[in-house]
Amino acid sequence: MRELSDFCKNLKKGFINRQINPNKPVGFWPEKDILNGKITDSFVIILRTRGCSWSHKSGCSMCGYFNDTMWGDDVTDENLKKQFEAAMDGYNNEKIVKIFNSGSFFDEREISIKLRYKILNKLFEKAEKISVESRPEYIMQTNLSDLMQIIVNGIFEVGVGLETSNDFIRKYSINKGFTFNDYIKSAKVLKNNNIKLKTYVLIKPPFVNEKQSINDAIETVKKIKDITDIISFNPVNIQRNTLVSFLWNRKYYRPPWLFSIVEILKESKKISRDILLKCDIVGGGNIRGAHNCRICDKEFLKSIKEFSLYQNLDVLENLDCECRDKWLDQIDIEEYGFGSLVNMFG
Ligand code: SF4
Ligand SMILES: [Zn+2]
Repeated sequence: MRELSDFCKNLKKGFINRQINPNKPVGFWPEKDILNGKITDSFVIILRTRGCSWSHKSGCSMCGYFNDTMWGDDVTDENLKKQFEAAMDGYNNEKIVKIFNSGSFFDEREISIKLRYKILNKLFEKAEKISVESRPEYIMQTNLSDLMQIIVNGIFEVGVGLETSNDFIRKYSINKGFTFNDYIKSAKVLKNNNIKLKTYVLIKPPFVNEKQSINDAIETVKKIKDITDIISFNPVNIQRNTLVSFLWNRKYYRPPWLFSIVEILKESKKISRDILLKCDIVGGGNIRGAHNCRICDKEFLKSIKEFSLYQNLDVLENLDCECRDKWLDQIDIEEYGFGSLVNMFG
């Protein structure tokens, strides 16, 4: 649908990046993660590039990552090297390093082949596992062959934002710009190279109501459980200058309920069994992020975080609150509307 694609593009028209220092990364911080079934220290680095190429062309309906980029201004290898060095000042030999760039690690317009190699080479001196992210079109043998020599002893993981296995939703709601088949092809390339695949699944894309979103996430898990090594659920949060924020400002969109997320995690664990399931909730408990009634949000968020680390369904079992009825009402009432409707209950 050209309309959606054009709309996402036009939203960025006239956008001026406020980021003026190409030598500073977006951020870096330590956090806990899992390695070989054990809780392990990890280190996250977000590099500031010129921005995701798809975002420049049009962009996904919920993605405001471009707000953090240099948005088209040249970011040279020298700049990125300085960003990387600045981030490494905070590195304490954590065994897992996640190096993201709010786009695609394998897109040469963002990070050159030479620099990719240098970065991974440096990180694998200490790290046992390195994670990057990429759209499927850049996951090609030519982009991986050179890297294979440095990955021999470590675990290399690529995260792909599939969002949903449903091509209709991916195209008409998310404007993702690739198909399920493209994802499958990239998964095969990764497997042939012994590289792990983490798949991001979006919870509650725009124009998809609460119930459809729960079903869609569960259906997606069924379709990818034999393809991916990790599934990471991303509940939509309202990011600036996006289609989702446009809808939200007009009261046509509510971020997902935490009840829905718990439902998805419980069902997904039953279906996927040994696959690692994670859910990082950006802006959780806030009106711009996944939330319930505010009173129970903290408890839900804590339990979901704990589940993501320990994979134990027990922590999700006894979660309840009076607002459960409101969540159920919303699910019922939305059936009679079109798409993800107004913010009925806050
Ligand atoms: S979600 Fe990923 S692919 Fe889509 S615009 Fe954002 S960075 Fe690019
Ligand atoms: Zn509540």
